[in-house]
Amino acid sequence: MIKKIDHLGIAVRSLDEAVALYERALGLKCEKREEVPSQKVRTAFFSVGEVHIELLEPTDPESPIAKFIEKNGEGIHHVAFGTDDIRAQLAQAAGAGVRLINQEPFEGAAEKLVAFLHPKSTRGVLTEFCMPKGGGCCCGH
Ligand code: ZN
Repeated sequence: MIKKIDHLGIAVRSLDEAVALYERALGLKCEKREEVPSQKVRTAFFSVGEVHIELLEPTDPESPIAKFIEKNGEGIHHVAFGTDDIRAQLAQAAGAGVRLINQEPFEGAAEKLVAFLHPKSTRGVLTEFCMPKGGGCCCGH
């Protein structure tokens, strides 16, 4: 079952500049940075109540984030729903005719299992499901 919006992913060209902007302009504090080599991205996390902001900077021109920025410019890249059963969530979406980018969840940032639905199937929004690696409810990191 989906429990909450876990985070919004925002594609940026420069993590340092974007982190500084969020800290100066919004008064938020960057809680953690992490590189995810499998996705060729560097990430920085902020908390806004229960929801997180995940800034994503490409580390390689072949990174999906680099391609996104090339096509759309910087901006909101994905919406992530926290779920307590990511495989059931994927099965439900597939059963409803949604195209899955990932048939199987993989390890994303913040020690979570993640999987994406294709934006062409979800009204233009790249949609992520995420769940802590150990299973259970998706609360915090
Ligand atoms: Zn995400």
